[in-house]
Amino acid sequence: MFSLAQLLNILKKQFPGADLDMVKLAYDYAARAHAGQVRLSGEPYVSHNLATALNLAAMHVDLPTIQAGLLHDVPEETAYTTEDIKENFGEEVANLVDGITKLSKLKYRGMERYVENLRKMFLALSKDVRVILIKFADRLHNLETLDVLSPEKQKRIALESMEIFAPLAHRLGMWEIKGQLEDLSFKYIQPEDYAWVSTLMATTSPSKEKNLKIIMRALHTALTKQPDLKIYSIQGRAKHLYSLYKKLLRHDRDISRIYDLIAVRIIAESVVECYTLLGIIHQLWKPLRGRIKDYIAQPKPNGYQSLHTTVIVGPGEIVEFQIRTQKMDEEAQYGVAAHWLYVEKEKPKEGAKLDARLQKFSWVNELIKLQQEIKDTTKYLETVKIDVFPDNIFVFTPKGDVIALPDQATPIDFAYHIHTDLGDKCTATRINNRLMPLSTPLKSGDMVEIIIDKKRVRPSHDWLDFVKTRTAREHIKQSLNRASRLLTIFKRG
Ligand code: MN
Repeated sequence: MFSLAQLLNILKKQFPGADLDMVKLAYDYAARAHAGQVRLSGEPYVSHNLATALNLAAMHVDLPTIQAGLLHDVPEETAYTTEDIKENFGEEVANLVDGITKLSKLKYRGMERYVENLRKMFLALSKDVRVILIKFADRLHNLETLDVLSPEKQKRIALESMEIFAPLAHRLGMWEIKGQLEDLSFKYIQPEDYAWVSTLMATTSPSKEKNLKIIMRALHTALTKQPDLKIYSIQGRAKHLYSLYKKLLRHDRDISRIYDLIAVRIIAESVVECYTLLGIIHQLWKPLRGRIKDYIAQPKPNGYQSLHTTVIVGPGEIVEFQIRTQKMDEEAQYGVAAHWLYVEKEKPKEGAKLDARLQKFSWVNELIKLQQEIKDTTKYLETVKIDVFPDNIFVFTPKGDVIALPDQATPIDFAYHIHTDLGDKCTATRINNRLMPLSTPLKSGDMVEIIIDKKRVRPSHDWLDFVKTRTAREHIKQSLNRASRLLTIFKRG
């Protein structure tokens, strides 16, 4: 069981001197809203909210995101609405919660569900990357408590996590989250392979760990001779199970050929100290040829920075070292989240525009890559054209489908995009449940409902003055032509 005190302790360290009252209030609010509800595991519902917030804290997010994490299921699962949250916690938190609520309403099954899911994730990303972070945090806890669900649901959620969430975490540079998502899903998707790899790990790692202790001792001794060197931490880290599994398949299932089963990660103060450490390690142990990698001078295309070296520590004993600064480490583990945190620290909030943040991280390019990778499996992504993403808006149908439209598109464009008939017979529109003029420019995230008149035979000529899409324009002209032809025939008759 998780406690609020646990969360507050972590936040106190991350935000020294910050006022945490709103976090406490968000917890109280969630506890009240979910009062009486229990998870299938038998735990009170609010334990899930806390777990989500704790996962978020581990990603080093800001305080509004923590609040939204605590409140994320309130509109979906309780009598309280997003409006209520807005009144109590302000627009920023309410928007984040709203983003999560929209994300969770999925209609389809199978491949269509996959596409729908991706669309929604992209939409959320285009608005505020923090929504995705909350979704990851939420999903991690759901995966941890998956045992109580039916096998069918277990499989569905695990597959979704493996095929959508994990690749997205990967593209966002969130290695730690990706690893956790994969390991937790792996167990349900391939139970036999999971059992095999975890047994293999369990039988191999004790001797590895024993060796690790000896290595650490030697390293510490060498470092005491360098008192000026500032080192934050030295840790042995076991490889994530799923990534070990994939590596084993590439190496004839032979675990003796996996060198980074346990890697030693050293976090140093500065880049210069990273190189000094590399030198010290190479003086202690002989490096393997071709295994010294300088990702600091030459970062990986995704921006990953670190020094890697694999050394021979004894007969047949090989260990990988990863050396990096604290900032590099946070970015490697939490990717866009960590990066965002640094930008937030450097700049006041209003100065740090979302676009600039993301461009700096170059994840827009990453998304394009993602799109290319999955082009074959979905027609949708070809049409969304993520490369023109900034010029697109994404709106919802009342059923929760996402429709991509050009900037400034109107409800008429929306109607024609869905179906010619819906356009031709359109008489009015509700945007976010409010009646609005048909010429209203839509904004990303709007929920658009088209009201039709079944007896209506043709569109209005005036619509040509404001429609934005070629589809709408062509259909309107076509329908008008057809109507006037009919009229001519009728007159002649
Ligand atoms: Mn949830």
